[in-house]
Amino acid sequence: MRDSFVYLDHAATTPMLPGALEAMTAQMAVIGNASSLHTSGRLGRRVVEESRETGAQALEARPSEVLFTSGGTESDNLAIKGTFWARRDADPRRVRLLVSTVEHHAVLDCVDFLQAHEGAKVTWLEVDHLGRVHPETVRAAIEADPESVALVSVMWANNEVGTVQPIAEISAVAHEFDIPVHSDAVQAAGQVEVNFARSGLDLMSVSGHKVGGPQGVGALLARRDATLVPLTHGGGQERQVRSGTLDVPAIRGFAVAIRQATADLAVESRRLVTLRDRLVRGAQDAGFGVRVSGDWEPGDGIGRLPGNAHLLVPGCDGDSLLYLLDAAGVECSTGSACQAGVPQPSHVLLAMGMPEQQARGALRLTLGHTSTDADVDAFLAALPGAVERAQRAQVATSTKTTSRKTTSTQKTR
Ligand code: PLP
Repeated sequence: MRDSFVYLDHAATTPMLPGALEAMTAQMAVIGNASSLHTSGRLGRRVVEESRETGAQALEARPSEVLFTSGGTESDNLAIKGTFWARRDADPRRVRLLVSTVEHHAVLDCVDFLQAHEGAKVTWLEVDHLGRVHPETVRAAIEADPESVALVSVMWANNEVGTVQPIAEISAVAHEFDIPVHSDAVQAAGQVEVNFARSGLDLMSVSGHKVGGPQGVGALLARRDATLVPLTHGGGQERQVRSGTLDVPAIRGFAVAIRQATADLAVESRRLVTLRDRLVRGAQDAGFGVRVSGDWEPGDGIGRLPGNAHLLVPGCDGDSLLYLLDAAGVECSTGSACQAGVPQPSHVLLAMGMPEQQARGALRLTLGHTSTDADVDAFLAALPGAVERAQRAQVATSTKTTSRKTTSTQKTR
């Protein structure tokens, strides 16, 4: 066992809510394949269908619109590949995907695959300096050639800088042209109000482990008239589009978590905004010229996710800061990804127009249901020492002529 540590990486994964953990572990002791016809199977099926109703209620959808998956990544892939193939099969002209430049890799890499192997064409939807996609950008991209569009995909909230997108407005624009819209709501669900029915979306991805449920489970919300080509073939579960034995305990834990997270949302959001603002102010007051990226208005938990603080620390490398803070017992994340052993500044920050040098000093701190004032205090106490050492390391590195390597292989979660 290690000593206590401060966890400020809830956007990567958040601890399970006690009720969800209890429900899931109780279910793990129960036998039953939800597709079996005997009593144990039917009992398992009942848990799945009750969980479907609970999940639908929490996200303001119909139970029949909820398809359980293995998580956000699979939901994104099913939405994008499934719709691309179905729309192209119906009309071969429809090969264009309209996708924002700040998406998670679960969307970006899926789109890259379709481009490389399936003849997809991609129109990237640019964002402003806050990371926001404007509905008029979507309109202009569609109007360039409406008949060629297979799907619009814009995330509900960004996983790095927490910017919340105007999803209902974007959906309305696409629907003027009868084009389906998908949103990756993995970071938004349980953090801000997510109403599938009112959003106008055709497809929406959510994930269990971001809302206090288990890892390895999620859902794709798909309107009944959304046509999807399945990615997996087999038992025909989940409206014939997602074959595979359902993970009943995980689905139960996920349902309990999403119900709890949405029920607590208003109070929890205010609590997190207060903590986040104190963290941001404290970091700014530390005297290193720390800046906040994205859409930060003190007190705002609507335009930016309430628990998201994304800091830019001048003169240091985010990865160095991360390791130094980790050594001091504070866990957080950077905005960088690593490609071929070379740390790359975040594609999100670059898309927002941030200079590469500035983007390299990014540090993401994300708060959640276990976060307390003591966590913020611990971070603020650890920050000056970590920044001083990271800045010294940066000066030493930039004077060396040898090429750099890093052990980090992460893409931002
Ligand atoms: N989309 C976003 C915005 C995310 O933040 C993540 C996880 O980090 C995913 C998708 C992938 O979800 P999962 O980890 O459930 O596959």
